[in-house]
Amino acid sequence: MMRGPKGEIDAVVCNGENLQRLGYDMCVAREWTQKTVLDEFGKLAAFGLDYVQFFDQNIGGGTLLCYSREHGHPEIPGAWQTRAMSSLQKEMLDSAGGSPVIGAEASAATPYVKNLVFNDARACFTFGRGLPVPGYAYVFHEFICNFMGNQCGIHFYIDSKKNPWNLFYRTAYAFHCGDMLSILLGPEGKIFWNWGLKWNAAAPPPQEPELRLLRSLNQLRKQYPQFLFEGKMIPEFIRWEADTVSLVLTNRTETIPRILASAWEDSSGNRIEFLTNFLPDPCEIILDGTKRRLEGLETLALGKVPEIVGETRSVEQRAACLR
Ligand SMILES: [Zn+2]
Repeated sequence: MMRGPKGEIDAVVCNGENLQRLGYDMCVAREWTQKTVLDEFGKLAAFGLDYVQFFDQNIGGGTLLCYSREHGHPEIPGAWQTRAMSSLQKEMLDSAGGSPVIGAEASAATPYVKNLVFNDARACFTFGRGLPVPGYAYVFHEFICNFMGNQCGIHFYIDSKKNPWNLFYRTAYAFHCGDMLSILLGPEGKIFWNWGLKWNAAAPPPQEPELRLLRSLNQLRKQYPQFLFEGKMIPEFIRWEADTVSLVLTNRTETIPRILASAWEDSSGNRIEFLTNFLPDPCEIILDGTKRRLEGLETLALGKVPEIVGETRSVEQRAACLR
């Protein structure tokens, strides 16, 4: 078990009578921890799963801090933890022959990008203090694939009664980060706002527009995998202007652009930019000096893009390039 500076034992990660679990935080350098992780992961692998978010709560795939003088590692936190965690992740992948792939809560930290190839990159907790920006996608998207995650905790920050469209915005935001989309199912199998919100606490969001948006954005992901799955995020190159809209949060109101946009480059240097009207109502934008109408939930794909030839690589193949 991990020890604090005075040798104390604590469990700080979502731990407690009224939280997700009762347990202890384990030291990654200990043999017992490594063996337990490998054993438990082996059981999951035997099910034939494609993916396991094994390092949930190990944000980015990292470890918490251990100060033990009895574990055989240096008595203060340091690079030893990163080495131990990286080595454990590699052992997991090797033990299962690379399938299932594994991931973490939040985007994988740099040392773990090569091992954690599919991560729960929900941007929810940024709304408490500001607005999310696609910084991770900008640096890492060409190497890694993330997904929208379970949107845990969004009800702490966004008032769904005042913003019934906030799920459309969050879905379009994930798309514009190049992330795979995800949905949460609630009562009667209906799409729900986020994980962690009691089903009787709010009526489900409008279903039809969200389904229409998911269908449209997924179609674009299939049509342009060289950008949205494998591509590099680049600065926007289309000049556009649009109105703004108010995003009412529980502690303040933010003004955000009426549309979302992001630009991409593929390995051949082709560029594309997507602009999404994330609301069900049509809107008008100025595109390179000319007025243009965007239908509700419509996404424009702008740029000269040739047809793709051949297959794209899998997330495992892309990660293997980094090892
Ligand atoms: Zn330790």
